[in-house]
Amino acid sequence: MKPAAVAELFTRFRAANPKPTTELEYSSPFELLIAVLLSAQATDVGVNKATRKLFPVARTPQAMYALGVDGLTEYVRTIGLYRNKAKNAIETCRILIEQHGGQVPRDREALEALPGVGRKTANVVLNTAFGEPTIAVDTHIFRVSNRLGLAPGKNVDVVEQKLLKVVPADFKLDAHHWLILHGRYVCKALKPECWRCPVSDLCAHKPKTPDPDAVADAKPARKPVAQKIAESMQPSARKTRAASSMGAASQAKMAGDPHGTSGTPVRKAVKKGLQKAPPPPAGAKTPKRRSSTGAASQTKMAGKALGTSGKPSKPPAKATARTSAAAKTGATRNTSQTATTRKRG
Ligand code: SF4
Repeated sequence: MKPAAVAELFTRFRAANPKPTTELEYSSPFELLIAVLLSAQATDVGVNKATRKLFPVARTPQAMYALGVDGLTEYVRTIGLYRNKAKNAIETCRILIEQHGGQVPRDREALEALPGVGRKTANVVLNTAFGEPTIAVDTHIFRVSNRLGLAPGKNVDVVEQKLLKVVPADFKLDAHHWLILHGRYVCKALKPECWRCPVSDLCAHKPKTPDPDAVADAKPARKPVAQKIAESMQPSARKTRAASSMGAASQAKMAGDPHGTSGTPVRKAVKKGLQKAPPPPAGAKTPKRRSSTGAASQTKMAGKALGTSGKPSKPPAKATARTSAAAKTGATRNTSQTATTRKRG
């Protein structure tokens, strides 16, 4: 994305939301740190629900540490991975008390040294609690940066480095929140709502999702099922259906041409009971029925001895063998009979 387009993009985001901020509820850097720590793979809504009960009884690292892991677990058990998160939070409280005087350090390295605090959590705390121009890349920002073509990259670290380079200094402090809110509510993961996106003309993602209302209006209204059934019961509809299920030749025959375009008889239509066989046209020969028997056999069946070639048909091989054997036997008998007769004579 060209620098002018990037500037235009953030100008529009700022015009729509001049003071963007996190949706996590907090009143101090410590509460923000704990809320962000609890929010990994959970929703801000779910975290807020839990911390609304937790923070009134544990506003400081000392108070939370006093709850212990079991005590804290009771407040956060509605959040995913709560056992591990509770352990990390109590250990974080201990380190804050022992190493940072009960304060959240304004230092990336010190923050990332806390259990359960990674680069993203440190970036959020530095940006939101201390006003540092960092850009934490979460799943929403990663997706939006790639789709827009703002800071394409294969992993969050690459995207973060590119964002830090391309986002103008004037917008850097709030860029994280503008992008996260845009990804959460407009440029959604499964179906981005491009039709209402304020930066659609600057976005590199294709194709754009069309307005579902406009798509619904463009579709022809669906007929109610009852109406469809009633229509299908009409004789004219049945006739049309029957006609359409047949080929052009059959349709032509039904229209009075017994031979249709191909000249084949109307057997199919008659078989289906859709029509009586039409009388053959004057002077037309009745087509002979074909049988599976060969031409020679057909000729024999007609009482002729000649096949298609005009030569006499040969008897079947077996019959020939039997006949010659019988002839031989007969000849032998006749010979012996003659011999006997001669003897008697
Ligand atoms: S046009 Fe669509 S894909 Fe592009 S940023 Fe807007 S919502 Fe996301």
